[in-house]
Amino acid sequence: MKIIWDKGHGGNDPGAVANGLQEKQLTHKIVEYAMSYLEENYTGFEQRTTRTGDQTLTLSQRAKMANDWGADVFISVHINAGKGTGFETYVYNGGVSSRTVALQNVLHNEILTTMRQFGNITDRGKKRANYAVLRETKMPAVLTENLFIDSNDAKHLQNEAFLKAVGEAHARGVAKFLGLREKPKVQSQQKPSDEKLYHVQVGAFRDRKNAERLAEDLQKKGYPTIIV
Ligand SMILES: [Zn+2]
Repeated sequence: MKIIWDKGHGGNDPGAVANGLQEKQLTHKIVEYAMSYLEENYTGFEQRTTRTGDQTLTLSQRAKMANDWGADVFISVHINAGKGTGFETYVYNGGVSSRTVALQNVLHNEILTTMRQFGNITDRGKKRANYAVLRETKMPAVLTENLFIDSNDAKHLQNEAFLKAVGEAHARGVAKFLGLREKPKVQSQQKPSDEKLYHVQVGAFRDRKNAERLAEDLQKKGYPTIIV
């Protein structure tokens, strides 16, 4: 499975700019978080980004990259502007496959649910538009507009933990859509034989009854207890 991540804007096109934030930097961060999360947690895919750094690319170049590579899925990440609030996603407003609609559904739900862990986020809906990257790409393609850079939404966009969570939500959405296999979790390591173990003893008594009384107290508090 081939995934291509499109970081909106870049180079001499910063995208929307407000509140000390640049859209091109935010889309870079969100995509990098998405790619790292996929790499760490899933197998059976290849991924690329339309720009690894701060290159300037036309919309057609981005779509062509995805088409020439034969990507299975195209995700374009953007930040909104215009003093509104909330999250929305787009697919092409011409003929789209049911797969494209499915990709929009899974991504939209995954990302919105994650964003709402940070506060009230308006759902602006699953929309359709005649955007070049959506029109010119041949595979299921979705564009996400992740809050508004020039409204009160900016407080979330200034929070690195939020950007990371949003990136990871993009990754989970794509993984669900493609049915990627999760990597087995690393099991806790065996203790090396020379490792020290520290024991805690809570009482020593001549009369066994006193020991039993203390053991009973500890058990009531939830401590595993043995009398030696
Ligand atoms: Zn944009």
